[in-house]
Amino acid sequence: MTPPSDTSADLIWDDDGTPRSGRFGDIYFSPEDGLAETRAVFLEGCGLPGAFAGRDHFCVAELGFGTGLNIAALLMLWRDHADPGARLSLFSIEGFPLSRDEAARALSGWPELEPAIRAMWAVWPSATPGLHRLDLPTFNATLDLAVGPVEQGLSNWTGAADAWFLDGFSPASNPDMWSPAVMTQVAALSRPGARLATFTVAGAVRRGLTEAGFAVDKRPGHGRKRERLEAVRHGTPAPDCAPADIVILGAGIAGASLARAFAAQGRAVEVIEAEEPGAGASGFEAALVTPRLDVGDADLASGYAQALERAGQLYDAVEGAVLARGVLQLPGRERDIDRHAKIAEQPIWQGGHMTVLSAREVSDHLGQAVETPGLLMADARVVRPRAILSSWLPAGVTCAPVARVERDPQGWVLYDPHGAVLRRTACLILAGGAGTAALMPNLSLQPVRGQVEVARGIAAPPPVAWGGYAIPIGDDLLFGSTHDRDDTGTEVRAADTARNRTALADRFPGLANGLEEGTITSRAATRATTPDRLPYAGRLDEGLYVLGGLGSRGFCLAPLLAEHIAALCLDRPSPVPDAVARRFDPRRRDSGLAKPSLPSDVS
Ligand code: SAM
Repeated sequence: MTPPSDTSADLIWDDDGTPRSGRFGDIYFSPEDGLAETRAVFLEGCGLPGAFAGRDHFCVAELGFGTGLNIAALLMLWRDHADPGARLSLFSIEGFPLSRDEAARALSGWPELEPAIRAMWAVWPSATPGLHRLDLPTFNATLDLAVGPVEQGLSNWTGAADAWFLDGFSPASNPDMWSPAVMTQVAALSRPGARLATFTVAGAVRRGLTEAGFAVDKRPGHGRKRERLEAVRHGTPAPDCAPADIVILGAGIAGASLARAFAAQGRAVEVIEAEEPGAGASGFEAALVTPRLDVGDADLASGYAQALERAGQLYDAVEGAVLARGVLQLPGRERDIDRHAKIAEQPIWQGGHMTVLSAREVSDHLGQAVETPGLLMADARVVRPRAILSSWLPAGVTCAPVARVERDPQGWVLYDPHGAVLRRTACLILAGGAGTAALMPNLSLQPVRGQVEVARGIAAPPPVAWGGYAIPIGDDLLFGSTHDRDDTGTEVRAADTARNRTALADRFPGLANGLEEGTITSRAATRATTPDRLPYAGRLDEGLYVLGGLGSRGFCLAPLLAEHIAALCLDRPSPVPDAVARRFDPRRRDSGLAKPSLPSDVS
């Protein structure tokens, strides 16, 4: 399904200041007292706050985000009534997003909601189609906002709601939001016993909900409305079954992102690392945060766009992490010029995220004459891995080599190289880059050696990539990298320095000429890649997960995919759309695990 081309909210302000949709000819909330109506219809209709009691995690989903009024009111209720330390997951769908300023104006009449409104404004998402995860840390909450048509938003979400707010304008003016297909999706995305509330008692809605598996009840309405609807999904809620204990193997960007993602869900983890944090491919002085650029594969392209957006948000919050914003991609081959133009035209990159620059603009940007056009990736970044790892990893990373993992009835057993048991755990996540290959021989992971050079005291242009890359870090120039498959050597090689210099000289002769032998320091590490060049992020077996095969996209992919794994592990909603998660599932065809076999089965 492609998103509609015109997604503007088409907002009209009534004389009393109430926002109205020109597109649907309906109001966003009651002009009398929208907040009172929200509380009566949606919050009380779903049995809130009573249903929060005894829950360490609660999930509310909504059709029709609109101004954010319902969510703001819910956040305030959660803050005042949630159990200590409990987490709230919110999911909402919006096909025609309001701008932050429009929402601000719409909600300006309720100062009592200000803390929630301020938290939402701080992270107000772009109107780019797709799923956006927004952090609301002062409320122990996250909001996954699906921008796009309702059915698409629902089919991409894999959560299970405890409560639903159906708020999609009146069924008469907007039947799409209330179709039997939508009601079936809502039911499928509900926990047994989930509550649902809406302002309408339209017969078609009641029938749709009943047929989808809800017990539906008419209740006295709020204000001028005679009636409203409450519904309960059939079934008995299952008890929470999150693992008691979580171990992550690897303290690079994958392991650090996992530790952060679990901490954001209120869960501590143990991280075990064979050497020291950042000892592998995440240990260079600087790293590029760039997406894979896909044309014609909409799911993948939006997956990488979402990963880049999320990585950028999270790195921006780490002091000293972001060295530069914006990376210029030059064509590696002639046909890349065409490809870059097509990439920039994709809806996910509209709004200045990707811009094709002419050869002259490229020359101006880089401060030196270049004869090719280029693609300016405004949201790509250069980051300092050390700042990110030290901010996200727990204080005490356990340094111990794990040589083997095996299943036992309680979970997973980790062995050291002498065969002694190091640790047992209910939940194990493999995030050791190229090292994961030795623990999971049946998972196809190919090592790729990369050597990178840093030339001290060399003024560099703004970050630029073309296959190789050149990045300024302070007064120094970082450039590289070699890519040598099936090579696990991490020693520095003079021949590789020469190759990196040649690659730089081919593009930027002036820059390469200035390099003197003694000023260059080199470092090499091994990355891991997969047969189809897509990462592995997901479940391998009961209590066993992997985040790996990130290749040279680790700093772009890891933050979002770590949240996906934390969600699978804790049975909470994933921020990754289903269509993307399937592409990254480690049990997909190309992983070598088409018929999964466990480490314990490996002789
Ligand atoms: N809950 C909102 C609030 O608190 O402000 C009010 C929601 S308003 C009544 C209905 C919302 O549903 C609008 O923002 C509208 O753009 C959105 N909407 C309508 N039809 C849609 C569709 N087919 N897909 C996605 N969103 C849709």
